[in-house]
Amino acid sequence: MILTSEQRDRAAGVLLGAACGDALGVPYEFAAQPSGAPEMVGGGLGPYEPGEYSDDTQMQACVAEVAARGHGLLSELALDGIAVRFMRWYREGASDIGAQTRQVLEAVDAGTSSEMRRAAAAVHRRTGRSAGNGSLMRTGVVALPYLDDVAAMAEAARLVSGLTHFDDLAGDACVLWCSGVRRAVLSARFDGVREGLALLPPDRRDRWAAWLDEAEAAPPDRFSPNGFVVPALQAAWSAIRRTSTLPDGLVAAVRAGDDTDTVAAIAGALLGARHGASAVPPEWRAAVHGWPGLTADDLVDLAVRATA
Ligand SMILES: [Mg+2]
Repeated sequence: MILTSEQRDRAAGVLLGAACGDALGVPYEFAAQPSGAPEMVGGGLGPYEPGEYSDDTQMQACVAEVAARGHGLLSELALDGIAVRFMRWYREGASDIGAQTRQVLEAVDAGTSSEMRRAAAAVHRRTGRSAGNGSLMRTGVVALPYLDDVAAMAEAARLVSGLTHFDDLAGDACVLWCSGVRRAVLSARFDGVREGLALLPPDRRDRWAAWLDEAEAAPPDRFSPNGFVVPALQAAWSAIRRTSTLPDGLVAAVRAGDDTDTVAAIAGALLGARHGASAVPPEWRAAVHGWPGLTADDLVDLAVRATA
């Protein structure tokens, strides 16, 4: 798909926006809110360097590397590529990791996508719950290879989510958010999240519509705790709908509290898609970095290549 220079800037903002939200939320994850404005001072669970992003963007980088190869994400080969990268990250790069993702990856040996999906299903059977926010936090880049094919985008969002998150609600959230990212890149609008309701099974559309209504009616900190994917999406959506710029949206997302880096990473993918890489403040762009040795320019490059 041939993108205008504006669309290209917005596609470039998806990973960069997520990484900035992640790094901005890192110091406050499961900790007290800052007295002043949040800053990328590092610390947190890693502990992280100033400007360093965490597991959310580390895992999204794994997906982005496969997306950037230009053959989509729907094939078994592509999904295996993501699974192999998740395992390499788990063994070599995971400076912190969500509880549910850990339970799945520690049960995987060879690292094929089918084995990972089986492990995710086993965690669901054992615990009865597998709708954590850990697949939504890495989903934005999944929209980029599918700007011209919304049905394939929805399928890819659900498949990539399902590698670690068996529950349908986690897949639904990824479909809605990718729909939002896709529309934002194409048209600089936020309507795509609600447009995504049409991509969900009919019996779950009303429930998600009501959850979006709730998010629009209340401030982000009403959706805390937000380890469950529904309040995580609601907190991010509330922050986005109550602000008008990328930096303000990310600050509002951090102020949701609890899983601050994840909520802000989720918000950041969509804010970056809407406002573009050019809307990221230069000091954030200079500071943001993380595993596997990526800078802001690398994140921009990966995102643009994923659209090809
Ligand atoms: Mg994190």
